[in-house]
Amino acid sequence: MSSQKRVRVRFAPSPTGGLHLGGVRTALFNYLFARHHQGDFILRIEDTDQTRFVPGAEEYINECLNWCGITPDESPQNEGAYGPYRQSERKASYRQYAEELIEKGYAYYAFDTPEELEEERKLQPNFRYSHENRLNLRNSLSLPPEETEKLLAEGRPYTIRIKMPAEETVSFEDMIRGRVSFESGLVDDKVLLKADGMPTYHLAVVVDDKAMDISHIFRGEEWLPSAPVHVLLWEYLGWNDQMPKWAHLPLILKPDGNGKLSKRDGDRLGFPVYAMNWTDPKTGDLTKGFREMGFMSEAFVNMLGVLGWNDGTEQELFSLSELIEKFDVSRVNKSGAKFDFEKAKWFNHEWIKKSDNAELLPQLKDILQAHTVSDVPEGYLNNVFSSVKERLTFVEDFWAQASFFFVAPDNFDIEAVKPKWNEQKESFFKEVIDLFKQQPDWKATVLEVVFKEKIANSGLKMGELMMPYRIMLVGGKFGPDVFQITELLGQDEVIRRIEKALPLFR
Ligand code: GLU
Repeated sequence: MSSQKRVRVRFAPSPTGGLHLGGVRTALFNYLFARHHQGDFILRIEDTDQTRFVPGAEEYINECLNWCGITPDESPQNEGAYGPYRQSERKASYRQYAEELIEKGYAYYAFDTPEELEEERKLQPNFRYSHENRLNLRNSLSLPPEETEKLLAEGRPYTIRIKMPAEETVSFEDMIRGRVSFESGLVDDKVLLKADGMPTYHLAVVVDDKAMDISHIFRGEEWLPSAPVHVLLWEYLGWNDQMPKWAHLPLILKPDGNGKLSKRDGDRLGFPVYAMNWTDPKTGDLTKGFREMGFMSEAFVNMLGVLGWNDGTEQELFSLSELIEKFDVSRVNKSGAKFDFEKAKWFNHEWIKKSDNAELLPQLKDILQAHTVSDVPEGYLNNVFSSVKERLTFVEDFWAQASFFFVAPDNFDIEAVKPKWNEQKESFFKEVIDLFKQQPDWKATVLEVVFKEKIANSGLKMGELMMPYRIMLVGGKFGPDVFQITELLGQDEVIRRIEKALPLFR
């Protein structure tokens, strides 16, 4: 590949269900690489296996990429010059290549029926269609040419299989793993064209990557065993000099590091594995997604960006544009990356802290509405959010952390304070009420000084008064700085709350 070739990468999911976070990370790394090199990011839907087609899955993929902010430059919805972008619509283009491979002696017709193959599998549990046994099976290599002609003329169903060499070392340079080599004899004769005329993934992926002028392929490590087949197809079709560069991304592992993270692990351990909610159209089963669980897309993308990649420093928080700027394939790890849900939550927490309030205001209003709180001035909501945002893991935590700003507490967590309560403390708060009533400048900093001076003059201890005061305003022992709360609630409301709570402490 010449170094001037335009960078064109593709994310090529099969529309078979919800998108696993590993799939989204593959999309993201493709996108980052494309943007970093001012290239194109393409979405190609690999739907040639019609038995696995699931309605709604393609729409889900589009929505998911949009949510993450990694919208493709070319896709079925937004075709570029290399369409169609769904493999099923490219059906007509594949057969000629399968036939060309037969002509060149790199592939053959196989007439074995599914029943016959089933029979073979029963006889040998490790059955593989390969150089070892292909001459004992029913194909154009084992049958006399006239017989093959006859079967073809009769319209007998057949598949076309690649003829994997018995003894050859197939090697290529992987951008992440370096040189990788495979013994061709250990790989079976994969089907290239199916009896229904559809290509398999192996043929389609090569033909399409060539037709779409793909320069680099980023895909999951699970495709590494298929790579020798693809490399040989590039070579056999005479396109060797245009073969894309490969990068097989490390697996995302279970939290304990034992094996690939699966949807079942998520169900078992109580965290999402899909990007967004997915409802299986057949069973109606709902699988929870990160989005609906309350993850900000910035946090989700950041978390995926550093799952198997780092910029060589200790930095962990990256915006999408920083990831684009810093992404460097040579810093992608070879070994699997453990998924850590606590860490994922930490990313969300950090992104809520960094968020622009305006972006989350609509969501906050919905939360308030769900608790029948309406007519909250936007300025007030904004200030309240600023005061509690660093306490939230999810935006939904807003109500638990901030409801007292909108609704005066009815319950007061006073059990621990009550036994130590006395006349002196009660008088202190009565005097605070008077003091607050005369307070002209209702500012947290001023109020703090006033309150603390009063404590100093009373001879009481700071700790004995601060917590009761907080409980009077909040109902519990949580929340942001109590003088910030005091300022935000406003003079009248604070006085009302102290007056209401005071008798309960007796
Ligand atoms: N259709 C394959 C998948 O579902 C794509 C593999 C590749 O990128 O070559 O992951």
